[in-house]
Amino acid sequence: MTQTNRQWLLANRPQGMVSSDNFELVERPLEPLADGDARARMHYLTFEPAMRGWMDDVESYMPPVPLGEPMRAPGLAIVEESKHPSYAPGDVVFGMMSWSEYVHQHDGWSKVPEGVDYELILGPCGGTGLTAYFGLLDVGQPKEGETVVVSGAAGATGSVAAQIARIKGCRVIGIAGGEDKCRWLTEEARLDAVIDYKSEKISARLGELCPDGVDVFFDNVGGSTLEAVLNNMAMDARIVICGMISNYNDAEPQPGPRNLFQVIVKRATIRGFLVFDYMDRRDEALADLFSWIAAGEIASRSDVQEGFENIPATFLRLFTGANQGKQLLRL
Ligand code: NAP
Repeated sequence: MTQTNRQWLLANRPQGMVSSDNFELVERPLEPLADGDARARMHYLTFEPAMRGWMDDVESYMPPVPLGEPMRAPGLAIVEESKHPSYAPGDVVFGMMSWSEYVHQHDGWSKVPEGVDYELILGPCGGTGLTAYFGLLDVGQPKEGETVVVSGAAGATGSVAAQIARIKGCRVIGIAGGEDKCRWLTEEARLDAVIDYKSEKISARLGELCPDGVDVFFDNVGGSTLEAVLNNMAMDARIVICGMISNYNDAEPQPGPRNLFQVIVKRATIRGFLVFDYMDRRDEALADLFSWIAAGEIASRSDVQEGFENIPATFLRLFTGANQGKQLLRL
C-alpha cells in the first residue's frame, strides 16, 4: 500500500484577518527517499504570530510561503528513514518544518539532546525563550531597580521576558488580556503588577503604577498599546520592538504612533531586533534559561492542541488570545 502524506497548503493569501479558508488540506503519496535526504514524522508543531506575515507577498526577513505549498512552521519531528549522513532513524529533530505529517531533511535541523523535555525546547528554551532573552537583555539593557513593562506578557515570549526582568532585579509590569492571564502573571510568574488591557486603560494605569516613568518597554503588540506606553516613558527609556501582533491582520497598514514626539522629549531609543541574528550566542542563553527554570525562577505554560485537522484553527488561537502560553499542537 502506498503511504501518503497529508499537508495543509497555503491556498490563498489573506486580505485582513487570517482564516481557515486560507488553507487547503491535501493527501499525496510519499515520494521515494532520495540519496542525501531524510524523512521525519512530525510530532509537534509550534505556532508563532509571525507566521501570519509569511502568508503575505511582501518583502520581509523571510520569503513568503508560495501559494500551493505546505505552510511553513517550526516544529519537532522523529526521523523514520534516512539516507543522510547526519540523521539516523529515531533521532528527534527540531527546526523549520511545515504543516505536513512527514517532512524532508532541511538544512539546519537540530537534534534534541537526550532527556530534554520537548515542550521546554519548543517553548521557554526554544525560539520564543531566546527572543525574550536577547530582546530584553541585549536590546533593552535593563538595570537593577529599573521599571520594565512587557506587553503580550502572558504569551510565550512576553512571559519569559518579564520573568528575566524580575530575575535581573527590575520592577516588572505586564500587560495582558483577561483575568486568568493576569492572575497567572502575578501568582505564578510573580510580576509586581499587571494591567488587563481588556478592562483597564493602559495609559492611565501606567501613570498610577509608574509615576517616575517606564525605563524599558518590551513590546509584542504595537498599535495603541505602544502609544499608551510612549506616553509614560522615563528619561533615556529603551523601547524594544519585538513584535506588533495587533497589526498583523490589518488589511492596510495603520498610521504609526501619533505620539512619537515623546521619543524626542524622553531622549528614548527604539530598536527592533530579530532572534535569528543571535543564533551564534544560543548556548549562552540556553545555559541561563535552563538554570533559571531548574531553580523555579521561570514559570511557563504550553497550550497543547491535538490533531492534524485542527492545525489552522490552532493557528487562529494566537489572534484571539485563546492560547494560554506557548501554542503547540501534538500530532
Ligand atoms: P504569544 O504571545 O504566545 O501569543 C500571542 C498573544 O498575543 C495572544 O495570546 C494575545 O494575548 C496577544 N494578542 C493577540 N492579538 C492581540 C491584539 N490585537 N492586541 C493585543 N494583544 C493581542 O505569541 P508569541 O509567539 O510569544 O509572540 C509574541 C510576539 O513576539 C509576536 O508579536 C511575535 O511576532 C513576536 N516575536 C518576535 C520575534 C523576533 O525575533 N523579533 C520572535 C518571536 C516572536 P492576550 O490574550 O494578552 O491579548
